[in-house]
Amino acid sequence: MENPYLNVDKKIVSEIYTSSEPMDNLEVLCDVYGSRWPGTQDDYDSANYMVEKLKSYGIENAHTETFEIPGWRRGAATLEVTHPIKKSFDVISLPFSVGGEVEADVIFLDAGHVDVYEKRKDEVEGNIVMVTSARPAGMTRNLHRSEKYVRSVLAGAKGWIFMNHYPAYGPPTGGISPIIPSIGISYENGSFLTRLLKREGKVRARIKTTDENLTVETRNVVCDVEGNSVDDEYVLTGCHVDGHDISQGAVDPASGAVVVMEMARVLNMVKDSLKRRIRFIGFGAEETGLFGSYYYASAHESELDNCRFMLNLDSGGGAGKKGVIFNDFPELEPTLEKWAAEMKVDMPHGQMVSPYSDHWPFFKKGVPTGSGSDPTAKASRTGRGYGHTRYDTLDKVKQPNVRLASANYARFLLRVANADDWAPRRKSQKEIEDFIKQMGFDETVKLAERVKAYVKTWDQIHPDTEKWLNRKSDW
Ligand SMILES: [Zn+2]
Repeated sequence: MENPYLNVDKKIVSEIYTSSEPMDNLEVLCDVYGSRWPGTQDDYDSANYMVEKLKSYGIENAHTETFEIPGWRRGAATLEVTHPIKKSFDVISLPFSVGGEVEADVIFLDAGHVDVYEKRKDEVEGNIVMVTSARPAGMTRNLHRSEKYVRSVLAGAKGWIFMNHYPAYGPPTGGISPIIPSIGISYENGSFLTRLLKREGKVRARIKTTDENLTVETRNVVCDVEGNSVDDEYVLTGCHVDGHDISQGAVDPASGAVVVMEMARVLNMVKDSLKRRIRFIGFGAEETGLFGSYYYASAHESELDNCRFMLNLDSGGGAGKKGVIFNDFPELEPTLEKWAAEMKVDMPHGQMVSPYSDHWPFFKKGVPTGSGSDPTAKASRTGRGYGHTRYDTLDKVKQPNVRLASANYARFLLRVANADDWAPRRKSQKEIEDFIKQMGFDETVKLAERVKAYVKTWDQIHPDTEKWLNRKSDW
């Protein structure tokens, strides 16, 4: 197959494979700025670092966009078994946990199948629920941590323990809503507790958390490679920059953030060949609730009609083939096949929609979206393992993966920007609403409303919970 962009492709690929920029940037983001947790000095400094770097690539319009979000500061957390033995465990709070103390029986609900909360409501009421991070057996859909949490609260839980189902990665983290003291525990310590429960029938424990919910400021990093502007249409790509506060967030997300920077660098070098503008975004505060992308999509709402496509590269420089999972845009599959053939690369494609990364606020507004990902890996993959633990560190990111991602997606974006016959169009709100219903995602929204209504009936409401109940924004 003839490649109309052969010369541009050669420039892009040779530049990427003779540069150490992304790995150098990764080292600064991870080793200098740590987790880049929203609202911290490292969050601001890493955003400024990215802006300066992008400017040094010749992209003078690089800037930050600042906004306020609900923030969270981790405090010390403890879990002590008080009966029938006395023992303390190494645990960590889950983001947005309230600070507090609860002593009650531990009720283990395994992987927390969707039906178990109502079924065992009598046991759960007033007690501490422990569930694992595994996908519940017998369920076709994945049950997200936050849904397990909300269903536990609705069943009357007063404390919550989230157990890693992967051995040797320590306690997991991951956001929940600020209602009850909530902690993560390792596979090993969780297993100890389940054995104790089995032997003794009843285990009493005390959770203490000292976390703080507050309002913070965070920012998105935004820059444009202008191209020749044959019309007002443009292409978006991005990846979040914040990692979980206990980690370096190296694979998730920084490996993708440096790919976004690298694509900006090399596409800026070939901008004369670009028909349309490409916008690159480093989103803030994804891990705590997709705040950066929600903010962007609403602040730039009026520009979304002209957005041809949004490519999300969350963890984009991790392992696996560098294909695209489209979010219900099947018309793009033959297009990608044709482009992959002319580029002589393996870019598998698939269709799937998940609400748990930065494409989602754009998808909800009808923008054609997709994620840089490996659709062929789905069947064999057992989960993320070290993701959302202390061990998502720089050493997990391999240069060949970062280069492959940069080379494939930069050439993909060039083609999206230049295509004369771009098929997808923005979907209407009605189409999106129907789709969300059909996928069952509206259940999550209803569940959130239900738990808010339920918590409002409590005699004692934690001040952080009160603030959360009164929050009125999109998020
Ligand atoms: Zn991520």
